[in-house]
Amino acid sequence: MHSFKIAVLPGDGIGPEVMAETLKFLPIVEEHYSVSFQCTEKNVGGVAIDENGKALPDDTLETCMNSDAVLFGSIGGPKWEHLPPSEQPERAALLPLRKKLGLFANLRPSRIYPSCTDLSPLRSDIAKRGLDILIVRELTSGIYFGTPKHRNDTEALDTMRYTREEIERIADLAFSLAQARGKKLTSVDKANVLETMVLWRQVVAEVSKRYPDVDYTNIYVDNAAMQVVSNPQQFDVMLCGNLFGDILSDEVAMLTGSLGMLPSASIALAGSEETSPNLYEPAGGSAPDIAGMGIANPIAQILSLALLLRLTCKLELPARMLEQAVSDTLSEGIFTKDIAQGKPAVSTSHMSGAITERFKYLLGT
Ligand code: NAD
Repeated sequence: MHSFKIAVLPGDGIGPEVMAETLKFLPIVEEHYSVSFQCTEKNVGGVAIDENGKALPDDTLETCMNSDAVLFGSIGGPKWEHLPPSEQPERAALLPLRKKLGLFANLRPSRIYPSCTDLSPLRSDIAKRGLDILIVRELTSGIYFGTPKHRNDTEALDTMRYTREEIERIADLAFSLAQARGKKLTSVDKANVLETMVLWRQVVAEVSKRYPDVDYTNIYVDNAAMQVVSNPQQFDVMLCGNLFGDILSDEVAMLTGSLGMLPSASIALAGSEETSPNLYEPAGGSAPDIAGMGIANPIAQILSLALLLRLTCKLELPARMLEQAVSDTLSEGIFTKDIAQGKPAVSTSHMSGAITERFKYLLGT
């Protein structure tokens, strides 16, 4: 039996509420598959500042480094906004954690569910055709990190730099993910203007040869920004550098109109000896405006667990079934307040209970 160690960091705001509901799915998976999960819960973010004196306590970091995966809730809130920026939860916990874990790629799957097309800001005929896009964004290089970087009152400079190795490893990841999905990959660049992007396109084309079953195309980023709005159905996996991925992933997320339903995964560089856990978290924040009211949508956190099952545990079937259970629940008109659009809304625990029932049904109990 394979055992997985999971560092569970619920964090602040709605984090603990949606995390508690999500963890209830693990024993169900254990019942049906030859697998066990050892969860260790630790403080992070504002609650860690209050109880442990800093946003990322040493024992939290150690637990993460010794785990197979990190399941993260969300952090931050008005209570800690008076702190200097470098001590605020997100800056003081999430950024160092990402760095320590060597997270080089961010995966953001976005979907429009048939029962939720009204949430999308897209024209209804476009929204009704659906959208199911995975954005794979390079996280550790590109213009955000390139040097030299400087500014004075008359001039400022940033540097966009990518190495062959950096492009190759993210392209490899994106092609392998495309193989397991719709077998279509669109690489986003600006090779008509930027030298970095000429190399990007060249290396991605080389990597594509190793994945002949994936239909591969290139698109300029400006065209991509238009096409995701006018014809999003054409995309499956979109591979982006850091800057373009940052912008496009938020654009595509907004097209679904449902922040509380979007999970994300950040992928660690495979370490030589130490385990290198991936980090799974909702795309949204800690939603302090609704914390403690029992009305948060738990779907983003539950779908983050589905990504963990797929990518860390290689349990594709339960991952798919969990995603299907979410989709089936929504199809039956069960909505939390954020997506109810004036229709009757259910609580956080009611929503997760409904997903649990459908998950068990799909697993055959
Ligand atoms: P937010 O995502 O927390 O909330 C934006 C809006 O979406 C709010 O109205 C909120 O109620 C709603 N919302 C978000 N998730 C929801 C869910 N699961 N169910 C129902 N409604 C949901 O963004 P914000 O208000 O800009 O930030 C709030 C706090 O979260 C800030 O302190 C910010 O720094 C922090 N934050 C943390 C992370 C993280 O932990 N990774 C990410 C973004 C923001």
